[in-house]
Amino acid sequence: AQEFGIQEALKKLGVEAINNGTSTGSDNFSSGEELSSFSPVDGVLIAKVRTTTKKDYEKVMDAATNAFKIWRTKPAPQRGEIVRQFGDKLRELKEPLGKLVSYEMGKSYQEGLGEVQEMIDICDFAVGLSRQLHGLTMHSERPGHRMYEQYHPLGVVGIISAFNFPVAVWAWNTALAWISGDVCVWKPSEKTPLCGIACQNIAATVFKENNLPEGISCLINGDYKVGEFMTHDKRVPLISATGSIRMGKIVAQAVAARLGKSLLELGGNNAIIVTPDADIKMTVIGAVFGAVGTAGQRCTSTRRLIIHESIYDKVKDAVVTAYKQLRIGNPLDQKNHVGPLIDTDAVKMYQQALKKVVEEGGKLIVEGGVLKGEGYESGCYVKPAIAEANNKYEIVQHETFAPVLYLLKYSGDVENAIAIQNGVVQGLSSAIMTNNLREAERFLSVQGSDCGIANVNIGTSGAEIGGAFGGEKETGGGRESGSDAWKIYMRRQTNTINYTTELPLAQGIKFDL
Ligand code: NAD
Repeated sequence: AQEFGIQEALKKLGVEAINNGTSTGSDNFSSGEELSSFSPVDGVLIAKVRTTTKKDYEKVMDAATNAFKIWRTKPAPQRGEIVRQFGDKLRELKEPLGKLVSYEMGKSYQEGLGEVQEMIDICDFAVGLSRQLHGLTMHSERPGHRMYEQYHPLGVVGIISAFNFPVAVWAWNTALAWISGDVCVWKPSEKTPLCGIACQNIAATVFKENNLPEGISCLINGDYKVGEFMTHDKRVPLISATGSIRMGKIVAQAVAARLGKSLLELGGNNAIIVTPDADIKMTVIGAVFGAVGTAGQRCTSTRRLIIHESIYDKVKDAVVTAYKQLRIGNPLDQKNHVGPLIDTDAVKMYQQALKKVVEEGGKLIVEGGVLKGEGYESGCYVKPAIAEANNKYEIVQHETFAPVLYLLKYSGDVENAIAIQNGVVQGLSSAIMTNNLREAERFLSVQGSDCGIANVNIGTSGAEIGGAFGGEKETGGGRESGSDAWKIYMRRQTNTINYTTELPLAQGIKFDL
């Protein structure tokens, strides 16, 4: 860690050995138990965070609800100006924050920087959007009446995020929520609390410099119990939750029970269809990066390759050959392709998945295994594995958050491949590799992929912030980031104004007094 300048990065980000995990902007406090953050890179304790108690949470909610009263009155373009300044601070701190993301989460330094770049991009997007929160004007059926709709902020937005995108997912939500006039309370993953503290420090500085109240950005820390403070709290009209399907089902029920809104970004089981007309070289790059990038810990990671029988052996050999070139090791060292899994529990799940696929009849063609020895002391480094399998296997139906790729064979037309691709409960990302226009259009048509993301000649992994991001079925149905995803952070109001001296009723109803 020393050689990669981690201590220096932590200093620049204001992350200390023991941190207050509860913050309402400039006010840091917390009285809960300690949470230790260990790096999966080298197993070293990075720092400790105090968790948020129920009493602390009440203090946070007071600060947030008070801040909302002020923040909502700022014109949206002025809120955009604050987000612009926040984006500039991220540009200044891109390197240290990218390093912390890499060190605390375990993704490559390039991907850590990429994650911070995504935060910067969404800020730029939000700044422009702050002048475009358009409603429609429609013609009233009544004479002398005007009818239009407008969008108002919602209030306190609760953000619950996963470990694998420890900073970007927060920014996707906050940048849009802030320009919408909302204030945010964030509970980052208990596996990456320091990333949360670093981001909170950056946001707090910007709000302070602009004499804006504490509480536009708030941080709470801890495990699911701290998340539950928000999901059961009717003062939080919107919960945006990113994580596993298991978590999403619990959160959705808690929020629905109080008729709140939830935005769910849950697990995927993403596939690439490889047809006889595919460009094999592009397929291999897309599939290998998709399967082993971020050590298979992206919601959009490629889990399944659905290959036509006529090119099955050719694609299989090419992918297996590519796997032989993968270098596994410290993600801060840019020579390496694959870093560690988040923790040893994730390693156990990976091992169980490999065992299960064999038990169900699958064949491992690239054996996995846990790496030991120098450089692998954290116990979190595993070898990416490939298994020939069947879509019906229980383990294939399940998202294993690790670099395990399943090869599935199809015969006949592309619709057979689409049926396999859609034959899982998740519906996040999907792709087809083909130079055949008919196949590509079929895949994108109403009879095609049932996922929120469907790509042609691009893998499943990663997305740009300009498009709405999210998935169908058990992935949760939420949409974040670009396009018109901002609308979920606002409430819509229809207004009708009568500028006559008569009071005609709608639908021509007569009510004479
Ligand atoms: P996780 O579900 O274990 O935890 C996610 C977050 O939810 C954490 O902050 C956790 O503390 C919190 N949480 C868990 N149970 C809760 C409850 N009952 N009430 C309130 N909060 C609760 O997920 P993880 O292991 O951190 O992340 C990996 C998962 O996230 C994968 O399934 C991945 O596909 C998914 N993910 C999805 C997207 C997406 O955009 N669709 C993006 C990133 C990750």
